[in-house]
Amino acid sequence: MLGPVILAASRSDRMRRLVTAAPVTKQVVDRFIPGESVDDIVPIIEDLTGRGLQLTMDVVGEDITTPEQAAAARDAYLALVDHLKDLELGERVEMSVKLSMFGQALEGGHELALANVRPVVEAAAAIGTTVTLDAEDHTTLDSMFAIHEELRKDFPQTGCVIQAYLFRTEADARRLAAAGSRVRLVKGAYKEPAEVAYQQKHEIDKAYVRVLRTLMEGDGYPMIGSHDPRLIAIAQELAHRAGRKLDEYEFQMLYGIRSEEHLRLAAEGHRMRVYTAYGTDWYGYFMRRLAEKPANLRFFLRSMVSTG
Ligand SMILES: Cc1cc2nc3c(=O)[nH]c(=O)nc-3n(C[C@H](O)[C@H](O)[C@H](O)COP(=O)(O)OP(=O)(O)OC[C@H]3O[C@@H](n4cnc5c(N)ncnc54)[C@H](O)[C@@H]3O)c2cc1C
Repeated sequence: MLGPVILAASRSDRMRRLVTAAPVTKQVVDRFIPGESVDDIVPIIEDLTGRGLQLTMDVVGEDITTPEQAAAARDAYLALVDHLKDLELGERVEMSVKLSMFGQALEGGHELALANVRPVVEAAAAIGTTVTLDAEDHTTLDSMFAIHEELRKDFPQTGCVIQAYLFRTEADARRLAAAGSRVRLVKGAYKEPAEVAYQQKHEIDKAYVRVLRTLMEGDGYPMIGSHDPRLIAIAQELAHRAGRKLDEYEFQMLYGIRSEEHLRLAAEGHRMRVYTAYGTDWYGYFMRRLAEKPANLRFFLRSMVSTG
């Protein structure tokens, strides 16, 4: 079980220094995070949307420690909105945000995160698009759902993420599967204790299907965040059984992972949204991608050895 070890290592400052300083890291990182600045990312947005894909943009940088950094994160998203405005792509390009990056873990963090994320949600609405609140570790979720509810009073299209590995998620899904809600279901990417989360892959997969059924049979808009071919086939079947049309749910996958499948689903007429991260503070995001697939770690370590 390499995944939990990598996730634990991702919290270590020593490991961060080692990984970010390694000369080969950049080329491996580029597979998952295709740019550092908004100027790098605009051509990627144009290319992917030109191929019939939709996008959700993530400015990486969850490990902030001061209110000034949280305000800078807000400004980075506002700068992105400025660029999206010129591209006139509307809801074809939405944004994903991590509330930790907006200050949630700092003193008075709940209010601070809400105050920082609100202008981003407002700016997104003004150009005809939306924001989805990512799910982070389980200790942050009550605050995330409360902020989601607050934002939805003025911006009902604001989305949120639920994680199949958490025991609480089936109840969250029943609450959220209501008209007008947009909910992304993922397996979950953090190291969670056995008191709150399933630990075995088969248990997580079964929970994913149960929650997906609740979302598909409900009145909201399900967003299926997974690369798992079995779950994608099950999602199509459940959508069909629930009488949903192709524009009444969507698939979402991460940039750089199963890219041919993104295009295949889009060509079949599905809404396919690619979660595309960019920015300089990519360490946490990158380490979660390594943890999801041991082969990524092996590739990374091999390149370090061969160039070292
Ligand atoms: C759009 C999107 C948004 C997400 N948002 C969140 C979030 O807000 N909170 C959260 O906790 N998690 C989030 N995740 C991550 C998620 O929780 C999982 O960790 C991740 O999606 C891997 O699970 P899987 O469903 O793809 O299934 P898995 O069983 O892990 O993977 C299925 C197959 O997909 C491929 N694959 C999966 N991951 C990788 C990888 N890293 N590198 C190469 N191939 C891979 C492999 O072929 C693998 O066999 C998100 C995932 C997606 C797709």
